[in-house]
Amino acid sequence: MPAKGWVDEAWRLAFIIGAWVLVGLVFGYPLESALLGLTMYAMRQLYNIRRLVHWLNDPNTDQIPIHGGVWGDLYARFSRNFAQQEQRERRLRTLLEQFQSSAAALPDAVVALGPYDEIRWMNQAAEDLLGLRHHSDYGRPMVNLFRAPAFRQYLEARNFDQTLELTAPGRDQRQLSLRAVPYGQQLLLVIVQDVTERYRVERLRRDFVANVSHELRTPLTVISGFVENMQADGDMCPVPWRRPLALIADQTARMQQIVEDLLLLARLEGGERNLRHEGVDVAEMLQTLAGEARLLAPQGPQVSLKIDSDWFLDADPGLLRSAVSNLVVNAIHHTPAGGEIVLHWVDEPDASCIIVEDSGEGIAPEHIPRLTERFYRVDTGRSRERGGTGLGLAIVKHILQVHDARLEIASTPGEGSQFICRFPERCRADPAKPLAHLANVKDNYAQSTS
Ligand code: ADP
Repeated sequence: MPAKGWVDEAWRLAFIIGAWVLVGLVFGYPLESALLGLTMYAMRQLYNIRRLVHWLNDPNTDQIPIHGGVWGDLYARFSRNFAQQEQRERRLRTLLEQFQSSAAALPDAVVALGPYDEIRWMNQAAEDLLGLRHHSDYGRPMVNLFRAPAFRQYLEARNFDQTLELTAPGRDQRQLSLRAVPYGQQLLLVIVQDVTERYRVERLRRDFVANVSHELRTPLTVISGFVENMQADGDMCPVPWRRPLALIADQTARMQQIVEDLLLLARLEGGERNLRHEGVDVAEMLQTLAGEARLLAPQGPQVSLKIDSDWFLDADPGLLRSAVSNLVVNAIHHTPAGGEIVLHWVDEPDASCIIVEDSGEGIAPEHIPRLTERFYRVDTGRSRERGGTGLGLAIVKHILQVHDARLEIASTPGEGSQFICRFPERCRADPAKPLAHLANVKDNYAQSTS
């Protein structure tokens, strides 16, 4: 016990002083003798301090120099602390080894990055998937070794909520899905998965749907052509055939629409390569769409415009118009006469939004997450009745995706819905500064007309 060490030490001091005073009394110098005793005691303590410092430089808990008194207590305390620390370290080391061996066994590549995105650790799969090398690549920035521009941008953007899908640099056949997870202080764990097989299956499905749709196009055109001819020629169409022919014409038109929608979806999913980039005047586009909506349903809901942004959008004008038009037509179908539809163009701190808002029947919350799935309808019968294919919102979502934008849906049953097309800042185009290639087109036009 520490108190006992102190008591022993105090007794020892008292004994030394007493003994030296007694010896001093014998020789007639008690004070000087006590002083000599104290000096020797102090020197002994200095020697003990030196031994302690020496021992602390290389503490060996099995070889403690002093066992009794206050020094013994001190050594015992230090030894206990060192033993506990050693035990903690051993436990941590075991944990780390277990973590490293389980991470090493993962089929996904795992790379730990330091504050400067330098490699600190990686597992075996990182060597195979990313072409990195154990140990020799440690300390080097990962972007210099895994050279994909998309990965560099992903790290620079520091927005790690999203997953990055990319082709492995130098290996065109390999598709990777990459996610960075921040941890600790400015540290990152980069996890990369090989999704080549999933890509292949997705491409097969996409190609299959596109091929089937493409093959159906010609027979449908032939059928609808004959039906139209028969309907137009009164002699070829006896009265009992008129109704079945009208039904055939309706269903053929519906199938043609589905085929066209599926082909457009396949194009968008395949990452539309012929995307045009123009500075689209959104205010003007919404004004035209509002006019068309009023013509489409003259007795329907009131359609109004709200323009709170001066920006243009860097977008493909045809696709953008088709997406917003889809939303406006849906709003008309789901809003009764007397209701209101507002087309709103507005800026937010880091985005610009086209909002199509209606005061119609609204959508129950359980349907909202599924609305952009192909062929998902809240009321299939009603949708079919008015010629809906159930592909409209899937197309809107994909059109926005190829523009780096996203669709958000908010709705309250009985009160109305909001379909928000959110375009990030980088999609904005300054009306005063035409996009670079547009300026070229205009220059060429000016030259050819001058
Ligand atoms: P559809 O061809 O059926 O219109 P969409 O993909 O365009 O297919 O829409 C999917 C479903 O979403 C619709 O069937 C409808 O139930 C619902 N929906 C879309 N827009 C609205 C809206 N403005 N108000 C209420 N429901 C809507």
